[in-house]
Amino acid sequence: MDAKYRSQIEAYFEQQQTQLLQDLTELVRIPSTRGEAQEGMPYGVGPAMALRKAAEILERAGLRVQTYDGCVVSGDLTELEPGLDILAHLDVVPAADNWTVCQPYEPVLMDGKLYGRGTIDDKGPAIAALYAMTCVRELGVPLKRNVRLILGTDEECGSSDLPHYYGKEPEAPMTFTPDASFPLINTEKGRLCGELDGAFLRDDRLPYIASAESGSKSNVIPESAKAVVVGLTEEALQPLLDAAAKRTGAAFAAKAEQGAVTITCKGEGGHAAMPELANNALTAMLDLLAGLPCADSEGFRQVQALHRCFPHGDYRGEALGVAMRDELCGALTLSADLLRIDETSVYLCFDSRCPTCSTEENTKLVIRDRLAAEGLTMRDTEMVLPHHVSADSDFVRTLLRAYEDWSGKPGRAEATGGGTYVHDLKSGVAFGCEMEGIDNHLHGADEFITLEQLMLSAKIFTQAILDLCC
Ligand SMILES: [Zn+2]
Repeated sequence: MDAKYRSQIEAYFEQQQTQLLQDLTELVRIPSTRGEAQEGMPYGVGPAMALRKAAEILERAGLRVQTYDGCVVSGDLTELEPGLDILAHLDVVPAADNWTVCQPYEPVLMDGKLYGRGTIDDKGPAIAALYAMTCVRELGVPLKRNVRLILGTDEECGSSDLPHYYGKEPEAPMTFTPDASFPLINTEKGRLCGELDGAFLRDDRLPYIASAESGSKSNVIPESAKAVVVGLTEEALQPLLDAAAKRTGAAFAAKAEQGAVTITCKGEGGHAAMPELANNALTAMLDLLAGLPCADSEGFRQVQALHRCFPHGDYRGEALGVAMRDELCGALTLSADLLRIDETSVYLCFDSRCPTCSTEENTKLVIRDRLAAEGLTMRDTEMVLPHHVSADSDFVRTLLRAYEDWSGKPGRAEATGGGTYVHDLKSGVAFGCEMEGIDNHLHGADEFITLEQLMLSAKIFTQAILDLCC
């Protein structure tokens, strides 16, 4: 890049920093967590207020502003044909009462950090992108293509805002979202969140499993599990619990009450995208239950089938026949995260993160057939396919060069097991604004963005716009 532009960019942001912080502060003051839908406010009052405030800020900055069903607001830098879209969001996750530096919606600037809910996720990055656009206009470099800032209000609760926008507007040739981390994410695993059921007739022949329960959310590996068995004593169970504890590394305990024994299992919880870091209490419990000396009922056979399909420690989907890996994002991962067993049914929910070689055919259908062979029915569900944009594309290379030029650090395109805001866009990548070595407390207490991170991101975006659209 021209050295002339570099000093002009530096000067622009030095001059604009106060106003930029003012705009960001106004946005952070709005508690834009999802609330109950109201007339014209599909995600409740907070997101609607943030949308209105953002429209005001975009207009004040001289952009051409449009809104989409009260879900999304966009601002155009020019009236040229579409070139680059920058997709960010205004909604935030709720804040608990454990903040120590400030109240979540009363931002403060302290020791070079702006604290407040949404400062890093994703209001700060949105404002950085806005000022990058106005900087380019101020530099007076003629643009060949448009730059559009798109601000959604439902990223944290499933991105149902995006269809309202993309139902009306085409995807731009290039899109990045500053809603993850630098350097850049161009590969995202797919996801299959499957639910399966089994049903059988009640059979009271002793001993039998009366119930079992584990897990609270489909993407969280359960740290505990509970089961009730009838017809076995604590004494008879103890050696079986000891053996299961030895096999699984989980801790088991049994307590007799009212003619039944309640068994608890404690493992270690974790995130479904990283099952190898957890010790799944659900599969540990299945390991124990499948080996109990129960009467040979249909229900017991289904519990054994669950155990065969989801053996403890198998977080690669081996037993289901879908173990696979690729160069871009490594191995498929799979974890069983919800379990409900009663006297006439079994239910289990699993979460699989799938590499780019994964398809409906070699993943979803294989699992469905494997389960069917065990007498278990997988509910019909849509698989989220993997996402990948070539690291060799001009777009990705140009973004990485802008990052390298301004940060002085090496750029590289990375993969993630999670999904970003651009997962469903053909040529979308995530670019900014978390940086290595800074823990911004994303989604946690005392969330912040450093002033340096905020201004550096704005400068990186400015250069990216210059290089991509001028
Ligand atoms: Zn976000």
